[in-house]
Parts: sequence; structure tokens; C-alpha cells
Amino acid sequence: MSERTSCRVVVIGAGFGGIGMALALKRAGIEDFLVLESADDLGGTWRDNTYPGAACDVPGNLYCYSFWPGRWTRRFPDQRETLAYLRAAAADGGVGPHLRFGSRVASASFDERLARWNLTLEGGDTLTATAVVSAVGQLNRPAMPDIAGREDFAGPSWHSARWNHDVGLAGQTVAVIGTGASAIQFVPEIARTAARVDVYQRTPPYVLPKSDHPYTTGQQDTFERLPLLRKADRLRTFLYGELLTSGFVLSPRLLAGPMRMWRRQLETQITDQELRAKCVPGYVMGCKRVVFSSDWYPALARENVELVTEPIERIAPAGIVTRGGELRPADVIVYGTGFQTLDFLAPMSVSGRGGTELRDTWRGGAQAYLGITVSGFPNFFMLYGPNTNLGGNSIIYMLEGQINYALGAISALSAEGLCWLDVRPEVQARFSRWVERASRTSVWESGCDSWYTTAAGRNTNNWPDHTFLYRHRIRNFDLADYRAMPKRRVPVSAA
Ligand code: NAP
Repeated sequence: MSERTSCRVVVIGAGFGGIGMALALKRAGIEDFLVLESADDLGGTWRDNTYPGAACDVPGNLYCYSFWPGRWTRRFPDQRETLAYLRAAAADGGVGPHLRFGSRVASASFDERLARWNLTLEGGDTLTATAVVSAVGQLNRPAMPDIAGREDFAGPSWHSARWNHDVGLAGQTVAVIGTGASAIQFVPEIARTAARVDVYQRTPPYVLPKSDHPYTTGQQDTFERLPLLRKADRLRTFLYGELLTSGFVLSPRLLAGPMRMWRRQLETQITDQELRAKCVPGYVMGCKRVVFSSDWYPALARENVELVTEPIERIAPAGIVTRGGELRPADVIVYGTGFQTLDFLAPMSVSGRGGTELRDTWRGGAQAYLGITVSGFPNFFMLYGPNTNLGGNSIIYMLEGQINYALGAISALSAEGLCWLDVRPEVQARFSRWVERASRTSVWESGCDSWYTTAAGRNTNNWPDHTFLYRHRIRNFDLADYRAMPKRRVPVSAA
């Protein structure tokens, strides 16, 4: 732990992005940095999501830092293994002394005169930094549904990302609201022991098979002895992801193969015609996130599980009342209702040059140059920022590109004798126009509601192209895209 109050770089968040940034700074010989983390441990989403069955739906050989491969006990590592991997990577890279837990950044404001960021933590502590790297993620704030009577429920209830492990679900009647990527993982688990599980579905997901299997010790050793084999496996998974992405960004016709896989799985795993019909999505594959599970449909077909598609009217002390007026009793309610994904960086307040508030700049929806920088907010870099989420590949691959880019900018500041770098407004505007054009023809703007788009249907979260093209675009930090302020000319009010 460090009690320093000023440093060259402040990284906000200690998940895969923040730890990856810390490792990169250290590898570049930069020691003058802090990682501020609001919780009391690192791990981000892998620390927060401890629900039964929590696992990565991207194979571990791809969902890891390319420079620090993991030794996985199965193809799709579970939450504990992924968190242990991140802890080990942080420890191995000597990140520990840079971590400051229990430090939630309330506000960050750029002081133009002194060319530095002033950060205020909840509780009042302050810090200054030349550069800020925000790595707070897109899926860190649980969304609770606005259903009447939610507070009246007499039993325990919780969100999937805040699992209450003190309450056992064996023998209980459980109501689960939501059928997204989280619910499809925990429902099959809790259904094994619960007396009854009612799954309230508003919109069915497309569910593709998850070809998970354990790796024997021999296989794990082989991956370690033959790194090329691991790389080949990594490449194979990556290319499959890019194939899916082609369908999402070029034409859904390219999703004919995955559509066949989805339908085959549905038809072989659910024989009841009525239940099967409830599981057929009415939108283009990929518009909402495709989920991966070989257990979801069998769980829905269980005797003790019912898929309820009648809309929820309200929540009563004893259970859930559907629109038809039926009270369906529940001992416990679990909300698998996702995250608040559109207010990037919230609730942190970020103000840039001239006191401009980032939340005002983003009133019509978040946007950033390459998802990383915003004009008017010098030396402020985002990892997993606007339009950098993926529908079908590993976010670690995106993060590594962003980390390298931010490091390039931070290095340029000292190498070029600059006090700040601010992306040129015309460069950002040109990029944003391209994102808008590309998004318009993507599946994400094909007319469903999802966590990727604003109420007006604008894609603010996903990268609307192939993943490798993103990495190509951000492979080098290009100074020409930025207004650069030399050190000797710090103005009182910059032009
Ligand atoms: P989500 O995908 O946003 O799903 C939320 C679910 O709750 C949806 O089925 C939604 O229905 C439903 N819902 C929300 N409000 C409701 C309401 N008022 N009444 C009824 N239903 C309501 O959330 P998530 O499952 O937590 O997943 C979020 C993201 O986390 C995923 O897309 C994925 O990127 C990530 N994730 C990743 C993994 C992994 O293995 N890598 C695992 C879990 C999660 P509608 O569809 O009708 O809105």
C-alpha cells in the first residue's frame, strides 16, 4: 500500500484492464504509478461475480494476457481459476506495491494551468497525476429492474453480481428474473438442488453449445512444454470469434452455420413443443449477446424448472405476480438483470479543459477516439471504453491493444517533452462518424433492445468491425492525431 499523493500515472480499477496496464507500465520501466481500486481486492468482474456456475465463456487459452499464458484445468476456466490467474499475474509482475484498495475515485478534474489531473477519492483524500488511465469496465454496476413492489418482497433477494452465499437454495422455491449470460450459467447450477425454479424470461437468448471439458494434467503439461500448441489453440478460438464477428458486422447471412448449431441444440435438448417455441428469439442473432451453454436448455426442461414468459406485473411479499394476476410464490428472488452499461465511468465525475464535464459531452451517448481518448480531456485514457466491447471474441485482446496505445502516449509525453496530449476534435469526429456508419449496418442496430445501445438505438458499446482490425488501427500511438502542449508553454487558458 502506498500513501503517496502525486504520481506520473494513476490507473483506476484493478480488473484485467488495470492490472494489465500496471504490468505494462512496469515492463516499460515506469514505477511512478498507483492503481486505485474501490474494493478491497483486485479482480474486477471476476471478483464480483461469484454466482454458482460463474465461468468464462471464452476459452482460457485466449482469455488471458498473451505474454502470460495460464495453466488451465479446463477449456473454459471457472471464476475462481480466472481470478487466481489474475492474482498470480499481478504478483508475478510485482504490481502489489502499486495497489491502493478501498480507494474509490469520486472525481477527476484536469488543471490546465499546472497540466495535471486532480483526483478526489470518496472520503476526501486527494491525489495528482500527469496521466490517468481509467480501467473501470463496462459491467461493474448491477442494474436492478424497475418492477413495482420490489422492496416489499418478504424473503431474501439479490443481484447475480452480488451473490448472497449465506442463503442456501437447496429445497427453496427460487424466482430468477432474466435470461442473459449470467442467468444461463447459474440457473442450471441452482436447479440441481432447489425445490423449484421459476425463470422469468422477457426475451429469449440465442444459445450456442459450449464445448467445455477438463484438461488432464498431461494435457496441461503439453501446453506448457509446447507453447506453439497453445498458440495454435488460441488462434483457432480467435478465428472462430472473428467468424461470428463477420456475421455481426458484415451480414447476418454469414451466421447460417451458428444458426444451424443453435437450432440443432434447441431441438435435441428440448422436445416439448410449447417450451421450445418459448425459446425461439424473434430478432437477428447477435443483436443481443449470443450466450454459450450446453446446460441451459436441459435445465429449462427439468421437472422442477418452469420458464415463465407471462410478463411480471409486480412483486408481492410472497412472490411474483404476473400480468394475468397469478401470484407465483417464491422464497428467494435472484436478479440476473444485467448492468448499467451506458453511463460510462459513472458515477465518477470527470472534468477536462475549461471545466467541461464528460457526462455533458456524452449526453447523446458516449463516444471516444478509438474508444480510448476524448477531445478536451488531455492525458486521460480509457481501457474498455465506448465502442470497444465485443459480441464474439476475447476482451483481453482488445485491452492489450489499448494498454499498448496508452503506454505509447504516456511515453511520448516524456520523450517529446510535452505536458499534455489532447486528441484533435476533427480526428475524433471523423472516427465517430465511421463508428456510426459501421454500426448502422451491424446486427446491434437491427432493432432489438440490448445493453449495447442507447434508448434511441445507437450503438455506444460495441466495436463495429473485426477485432483484428481494431488492433491494427491502434497498433501505434500517432502523435499527429493529438494537440500537443510543449512543457515550456503551459498557458493559463490553453487555446
Ligand atoms: P444481460 O445480458 O443484460 O441480461 C439481463 C437479463 O435480464 C435479460 O434477459 C433481460 O431481458 C432481463 N431483464 C432486465 N430487466 C428486466 C425486467 N425489468 N423484467 C424482466 N427481465 C428483465 O445481463 P447478464 O446476464 O448479467 O450479462 C451481462 C453481460 O455480462 C453479458 O452480455 C456478457 O457480456 C457479460 N457476461 C459474461 C460472461 C462470460 O462468461 N464471459 C458471463 C456472464 C456475463 P431482456 O433481454 O428482455 O432485456
